[in-house]
Amino acid sequence: MLRSHTCGELRISDIGKSVKLCGWVQKSRDLGALTFVDLRDRYGITQLFFNQEDNPELCEKARKLGREFVVAAIGKVRERSSKNANRATGDIEIEVTELSILNESKVPPFTIDDDTDGGDELRMKYRYLDIRRMPVMNNLIFRSKLAIETRKFLSSLNFVEVETPVLIKSTPEGARDFVVPSRMNAGQFYALPQSPQTFKQLLMVSGLDRYFQIVKCFRDEDLRADRQPEFTQIDCEMSFITQEDILQTFEALTKYLFKTLKGIDLPTFPRMTYDEAMLKYGSDKPDLRFSMEFVELNDLVKGKGFSVFDEAKLIVGINAEGQAAKYSNKDLKDLTEWMKRPQIGAKGLVYVKYEEDGSIKSTVGKFYSDEDIKIWLERFSAKPGDILFILSGETDATRKQLSELRLEMGNRMGLRQPHDFKPLWVMDFPLLEWDEDTQRFYAMHHPFTSPKKEDINRMLDGDHETMKALRADAYDLVLNGVEIGGGSIRIHDRTLQEKNFKLLGFTEEEAEAQFGFLMGAFEFGAPPHGGIAFGFDRLCAVMNGQNTIRDFIAFPKNNQGRDVMIDAPSPIDKAQLKELYLEIKTE
Ligand code: ASP
Repeated sequence: MLRSHTCGELRISDIGKSVKLCGWVQKSRDLGALTFVDLRDRYGITQLFFNQEDNPELCEKARKLGREFVVAAIGKVRERSSKNANRATGDIEIEVTELSILNESKVPPFTIDDDTDGGDELRMKYRYLDIRRMPVMNNLIFRSKLAIETRKFLSSLNFVEVETPVLIKSTPEGARDFVVPSRMNAGQFYALPQSPQTFKQLLMVSGLDRYFQIVKCFRDEDLRADRQPEFTQIDCEMSFITQEDILQTFEALTKYLFKTLKGIDLPTFPRMTYDEAMLKYGSDKPDLRFSMEFVELNDLVKGKGFSVFDEAKLIVGINAEGQAAKYSNKDLKDLTEWMKRPQIGAKGLVYVKYEEDGSIKSTVGKFYSDEDIKIWLERFSAKPGDILFILSGETDATRKQLSELRLEMGNRMGLRQPHDFKPLWVMDFPLLEWDEDTQRFYAMHHPFTSPKKEDINRMLDGDHETMKALRADAYDLVLNGVEIGGGSIRIHDRTLQEKNFKLLGFTEEEAEAQFGFLMGAFEFGAPPHGGIAFGFDRLCAVMNGQNTIRDFIAFPKNNQGRDVMIDAPSPIDKAQLKELYLEIKTE
C-alpha cells in the first residue's frame, strides 16, 4: 500500500504516529517560513506541514505543488496550533519528512470545491473532475449504499436477483424504444428494454416466486430534470400475493431504507384513491408536506352573470393562508401572468383577498356581493389575512393548473421542506387513459395490469364513459410529490389478457405478434402475481431532498440526450453502417 491512512482518518489520539498519506492537492499556502498543503481524498482533507528552517529543500518542493497534483507524503502526526473545528481532522497535521509527486495535473477547468465555479456543461464535460467534489462523490456513495441495503432487505425476504436481457423486442406500447440494428439479421432490430416487465412475469410462470433486479431501463423520451434516457429501477415481482401483500412489503422496504440510511422512522403510509387525489390535489402524485386542499365552488358561483364561471365545467380554488398582505396588485398581476404561461396555460386567475380588517377585495366584485363571497370564504375556512385563488374551465385541465399553483404557493410559503418526508400510496388507478391526439385509449399503467375484479365484466361494453370508469389494481408510491414507484396486480389468464388487448385497440394478430410469447406462457400454469418498480435514481434524489436525478448518476446525459464527455451519440463509419444494412444514401 502506498498509504497507511486515508485523509479523513487521523485524530488527536493519533499524535506521534508515523503515517503515509496519498491524495490530491486541494490547496497550498506559502507563508514564507512555513508551507501548508491541504491533501484531499474521498474520505476527507488532512493538512500537511512543511518548515523552511528544518527542511528547505522539501519546503521548496511543497511550494511548487499545483492544484490537483497527486502526491504521497510520509511524516508524523502532530497537534495543530490553530485548530479547524469544521474539519474532522482539524485538530492535527502531518509534519512531512518525505514527499513524492505521483502525478502532476493541469489546472482544472473549475475549482474542485463543494461550491464550484464551474457551469453545468463544463462540469459534465469533465465529469471525472466533478465527481472529485464531495457533494457529487457523496451522492454516488449514498447510491451504492442504497443498492446494497435494498439487496439485503429483499434477499432476507427470499427475493432472487435475476438478470434479464438488454437486447429485446420493440413494442409500440409505452414510451419510444431505443433500437439496435442486428448485423446477423438484415433489416431487423432489437430494442432496449423500457423495463423488464414481461420477463419478470415469465419468471413468475417459471416458479421463481419472488424476483428483483436493480436494472437499467431505456426510454427515448424528451428529457426533464427528473428524466434520463437510461435510468435505474428496483424492479420486483411476487407470486401468490394480493395487492395488500405488495403494499406491505414495499412499504417495509421504504421504511427500512429510510431508517438505515437516514435514521428516519417513517409512519404508516396513508392511502388515497386516484379519484380522491385528483379531487383534493389535482394530481396523482400529491405533495402531502402541506395541506392547501382544493375546494370546489360550482354550486355557489353559477348564475350570477359571470360568464367565465357560468360556462366552466369546474370552478375550484385553494386558500393561501396568511398571504393576503404579501400580495400587492403587482404581485397578483405577475402571478396571473405566471399562470398564463404556455407551460401552465390558465386563461386567468381569480383571487379573493380577505383583508386583516375583514374587508374583501376581489377580481369578481362586479358579479358577486360581499355576502356571496363570505359564503365562499366559509367553505374554504378562510380567516382574515388569507387569500383565495380560483380557477375555472374544463375539469382535468383546471385541476392540473391549480395543482401547479398549489405547488408554487407551497414553495413560496416554505411549506415544501426538502428533508420533511411525506409518503403515500395512490391506489385504484383508471385502467385506461384517453389520448386526444390519437383518439384512442392507452393502458394507464401497462397492458398487463389487471382490471379490478368487479370491472372485468364491464370491460368490453365499449361506451366511452364506461371505459373511462374502469379501475385497475394499480398503485403508485408517492413521496413529496414525486412518483417513487408504481406497479400492479397482473393479468395471468390468457383470455383476460386477450380481452385487454382488444380493449386497447389491438387486432388479434397484432396482439399475437407482439405478446404471443407471454399469452402462450399463461397457458402453462401462470400463478397469480403482481409487482412494482421503484425509480432508483429518483429515490436517491428525493431521500436527499433534491430533485435532479442527474446528480445521482455517475455519467449522466444532458438535456439533449448527449454525453458531452465521451461525445455520444456520434456518427459511425460507412463500413459499419453497411454491415448493419443501414447505408444512408446521399445523392
Ligand atoms: N414495469 C413497470 C414500470 O416500469 C412497473 C411494474 O408494473 O412493476 O413502470
